[in-house]
Amino acid sequence: TQSTRPQRLLGAVQKNATRGDPRSVVQAIDQFCRQKEWAMNVGDEKGCILDSVVSEVNPATVLELGTYCGYSTVRIASLLPPHAKLITLEFNPDFAAIARQVIAWAGVEDKVHLVEGASGDWIPKMTEQFGVKTFDLVFLDHWKDRYLPDTMLMEECGLLRKGSILLADNVICPGTPDYLEYVRSSLRYESQYFKSHLEYTKVEDGLEKSVFLG
Ligand code: SAM
Ligand code: MG
Repeated sequence: TQSTRPQRLLGAVQKNATRGDPRSVVQAIDQFCRQKEWAMNVGDEKGCILDSVVSEVNPATVLELGTYCGYSTVRIASLLPPHAKLITLEFNPDFAAIARQVIAWAGVEDKVHLVEGASGDWIPKMTEQFGVKTFDLVFLDHWKDRYLPDTMLMEECGLLRKGSILLADNVICPGTPDYLEYVRSSLRYESQYFKSHLEYTKVEDGLEKSVFLG
């Protein structure tokens, strides 16, 4: 039977990472992606920027758009304070099934609520379904043409408060021009670019951190 890349990535975690040790899970995935097969995780280099933003914000509520295999989910969850909650959305059921196992292997499943479905359907249900009033931090890393409409949807649904942080991956490669233009020109955001490289390559990419000013 033919295996998929996410299945092989999970295999590398089970073979090389220690159960209950999130750092070893992250390391096993980075090693797999550098030595065997590229995959669309935020990766080690931009992952360090993600870590520093999570640590600085010290969020109680986090929304992640785009789980894939759970790599960034594990990075974020392992840095959260006690009782914090991370909701992560993934609409591909095959990816979600792999992510659940990666998250459990890392031992961070108590902090993570993985929701299977499309961002446009679930963002309006966050308060009703999960009791979340606002998010302290949102990590945008799903399909690039959804960053802007989903940001506007979060605004409309009242999920952002004064001081909420949006952190957007891949703003240069593959790029999110309409989103960048919006957060950089809107008076409701204060926005900053963190230059880096596309995961596991030397191609320029970066993260955009935007503070919602209310
Ligand atoms: N954040 C992950 C990491 O760094 O480990 C990588 C996420 S990957 C770049 C993007 C994922 O978003 C894919 O698995 C895709 O199936 C999912 N996705 C794309 N559009 C989506 C949407 N509108 N709602 C939910 N998931 C979506
Ligand atoms: Mg990305």
